Amino acid sequence: MADRSKKAGAEGRAQLRSLAAVDEVLREPAALELLERYPRALVVDAVRAVIERLRAEILTAGAAGQASAAQAADLTPAALVPWAARLLEAAVTPSLRRVINATGVVVHTNLGRALLPQEAVDAVVTAASGYTDLEYSLARGERASRQDHIHDALCTVTGAEDALAVNNNAAAVLLALAATARGGEVLVARGQLVEIGDGFRIPDILRESGAELVEVGTTNRTYLKDFENAWTERTRAVMRVHTSNYRIVGFTAEPALEELAGLAHGHDAVLVDDLGSGALAGLPLFGEEPALKDSIAAGADIVTFSGDKLLGGPQAGVAVGRAAAIAAMRRHPLARALRIDKLDLAALDAVLRLYLDPARALERVPTLAALAAPLAEVRARAERLRDLLTGSAPGAAAALPRERVALLDTVARAGAGALPVTEVPSVAVAVGVDGDADGLAAALRLGVPAVVCRLHDGRLLFDLRAVRDAELEDLAGAVLAALA
Ligand SMILES: *Cc1c(COP(=O)(O)O)cnc(C)c1O
Repeated sequence: MADRSKKAGAEGRAQLRSLAAVDEVLREPAALELLERYPRALVVDAVRAVIERLRAEILTAGAAGQASAAQAADLTPAALVPWAARLLEAAVTPSLRRVINATGVVVHTNLGRALLPQEAVDAVVTAASGYTDLEYSLARGERASRQDHIHDALCTVTGAEDALAVNNNAAAVLLALAATARGGEVLVARGQLVEIGDGFRIPDILRESGAELVEVGTTNRTYLKDFENAWTERTRAVMRVHTSNYRIVGFTAEPALEELAGLAHGHDAVLVDDLGSGALAGLPLFGEEPALKDSIAAGADIVTFSGDKLLGGPQAGVAVGRAAAIAAMRRHPLARALRIDKLDLAALDAVLRLYLDPARALERVPTLAALAAPLAEVRARAERLRDLLTGSAPGAAAALPRERVALLDTVARAGAGALPVTEVPSVAVAVGVDGDADGLAAALRLGVPAVVCRLHDGRLLFDLRAVRDAELEDLAGAVLAALA
């Protein structure tokens, strides 16, 4: 053993000495071809990275007294060129990759949340590829606000007096508090001091807005009198936060929104209501989410929600409510820093038009369609995937044996912290694997297109709730390729 590690160490040192220098690699004929295709600095960086990686690997293996994988490889200058070529290819390929979402989580934050309806995709392409009247009135021939494009539709679909769209909901909350409560106090029920995920915590946002948080009540029960008792001459706002991603159940109490609005307005303060998801559609499934119209009717001055959760639009934060409070947000210097970009604005514009006809929205908005699809439709999709995998579908290639592929009833989720306790019935195709299921899942993630699925009991589960019909053949192809 000691002998072997001594031998590996000596071989490692010899290898380090014989590792090619950057210049040597660059003189190889194949490297000259790379220099014709890519800028010299990129090629030099890639060759250097390959040599550095090999050096590190030899050193690590040497320190552990083992033979390195590099030891077995051909390390001549010519042999290093293809490695550099792969690094260069990866460097110039855009990083964002298409993914088939077979997780059953419809609005998957890590997979980009909502998919846009075709109307919005078209609007984005138009806005991205040519000049538009983004901040220009074609009627008057002068400067205008980008908000003009969405203002009226937002007011119509929400029933609010005034509206403003910004970069995302976190930005909408920050701006709402900065514009209405900076330098003052904001009352929030203890049970609502939530973390939404990826660092969005209500106490942090509040601090950054320049307002001071005053916690009211207890974790599970808070009454109007708790708010009344906490009121001081510095109180500027009451904020309600929808605890999107969890529920407090059992012995709970919180004041009605009308009561909080009455209290705030009696003191010339404002009520800010962070709804999170913005479930505007009348899906029975959304019954558990607070209705935006109820917040407006209850007298909330500012109601905020995300564009890319249950609304099914682009990343955006929407603030709707009373004219005075929304105007204060619009005038605040932070509004410029948090403004919605033109591509998201174009998409939001198109999505809101769909909502003017609720039935049309249900049909056209992919998030709504995926969540509302009858179970029979999801099952039919699962059957089609199974048939593609087992070769009983026309045109299917190398097939899996039928006994390895089964249909399974599953539970899908809305995702993005919305409807955390709502189980959406779904169907998955379960593929049995003999051996390394984790390795197969990794191969699927690295395939083209990438596939993200679930693992259960050593089987790969492909949940069909968030997979579209048009993706089925690609999904089957990716699965068969990974299993081959
Ligand atoms: C999701 C969520 C946010 C953050 O919204 P983003 O659009 O992701 O910035 C804020 N508040 C609540 C209650 C949420 O659910």
